[in-house]
Amino acid sequence: MRNKLQVEAIRQGTVIDHIPAGQGIKILDRLQLLDSDASITVGFNLPSKDQGHKDIIKVTDRKFTEQEANQLALFAPSATINVIDNYEVVDKFKMALPDSLLGAFACPNSNCITHNEPVDTHFSLRAHQGDVRLKCKYCEKSFSKDIVSGL
Ligand SMILES: [Zn+2]
Repeated sequence: MRNKLQVEAIRQGTVIDHIPAGQGIKILDRLQLLDSDASITVGFNLPSKDQGHKDIIKVTDRKFTEQEANQLALFAPSATINVIDNYEVVDKFKMALPDSLLGAFACPNSNCITHNEPVDTHFSLRAHQGDVRLKCKYCEKSFSKDIVSGL
């Protein structure tokens, strides 16, 4: 079965599809995609059958690390990742919110020990009233995802 994609096909790389409309720009920023030399095609606010509107990001010649995929899950837990090889979707997986994030974000608490000790930050995640709360393992404070990610 061929998967039809809405934006012009890329030969090799990654397509992040089904991003909630408005989150695409945050993902670009968060993953610092615009600072890399990867060529990027984006579609914002595209009509989507199941979502109303969605954003889509295509990154040529680039695959995401697990940590990047985890950060992505925070902004777009329902997004799908399509791995493209020779214009075909060779792998496809849904993002899932991880239970914890290691070293992905700095702790917003300026008194937290993670700012002074050479340790990776460690947040445990839980969904809470439509938001995602992140709890720092070190200072045990909880934050909303927007605070932690600085967006
Ligand atoms: Zn902390």
